[in-house]
Amino acid sequence: MDSYCVFGHPIAHSKSPWIQARFAELTGQTLQYEKTWVPLDAFNATVHAFKAAGGKGCNVTLPFKTEAAALATECSPRVALAQACNTLKFDGEHIYGENTDGLGLVTDLVSNAGFSLQGRRILLIGAGGASAGVLGPLLTQKPHCIWVANRSVDKANHLVARHASLAEMEGVDCQAFGLTHEAILSQSFDLVINASSSSLQQAALPVPATVLQPNGLACDLMYGPAAQGFLEWARAHGTEARDGLGMLVEQAAASFHLWRGVQPPTQQVLAELRALVSPSQ
Ligand code: NDP
Repeated sequence: MDSYCVFGHPIAHSKSPWIQARFAELTGQTLQYEKTWVPLDAFNATVHAFKAAGGKGCNVTLPFKTEAAALATECSPRVALAQACNTLKFDGEHIYGENTDGLGLVTDLVSNAGFSLQGRRILLIGAGGASAGVLGPLLTQKPHCIWVANRSVDKANHLVARHASLAEMEGVDCQAFGLTHEAILSQSFDLVINASSSSLQQAALPVPATVLQPNGLACDLMYGPAAQGFLEWARAHGTEARDGLGMLVEQAAASFHLWRGVQPPTQQVLAELRALVSPSQ
């Protein structure tokens, strides 16, 4: 049986095995998919051992996405821009690296939430791995602007600088700011994406409500109970709110498609997963 795995540290919380098993059942594919905790210094060795044992591909989560990008023998342009990889596909000696996080977010926003990104003003909060993964695919949707705001402005600057050519090619105003910069505090945005780990840490909201718009959308990449505070805050200010569960399912579907060449029914799986994880959203 074809074998896949998700590697991370920690990994116990991962919903990927459940999602991939449902995709396989619903598309009639025969495969097995497991989760494996990897010691911090053993990522390369663990992936190579899995591949040598006949593994066909894997997902990679924190904190190994950068190492996965370096391990791949060929990467997609998305991985090159993000400098992070969440999906590997093995073919003989060849290891192909893809980043499906941004594809997943864009599909969830555009197809599942029906929120077109073209011409929109977007605030992207955070400049870590998740922001790096989603910025490129967001730019290709040709919004009016994407302003990246991060606690450490240097990290936002680096992320934006790496995407400057793509932003110019797509005609998008892409700039970096600190979280408390006047330009951020004095504007509202059609779409506010919390790609920081503030919800994960149950920390204070990273921006004031002045960034929200009554008919806009606010999305936290976090899901489950930890995202509840952000969602309630956005809704209390008249903004539609969405968590990261749809992105999780859609990024998994893009991995499944890369491995199997088959598109799984994501809306059904998202509805089932939501009933398990966060029925109130
Ligand atoms: P990283 O650790 O790579 O980056 C964390 C980012 O959050 C940094 O920009 C950091 O700023 C910022 N940050 C941390 N704490 C705070 C705070 N209290 N207030 C404001 N900013 C803060 O994490 P990831 O980018 O990998 O993950 C970010 C979030 O995205 C997590 O909640 C994660 O669960 C979620 N995620 C969801 C996915 C999905 O499929 N739905 C996929 C991947 C991630 P600084 O640079 O200053 O330290």
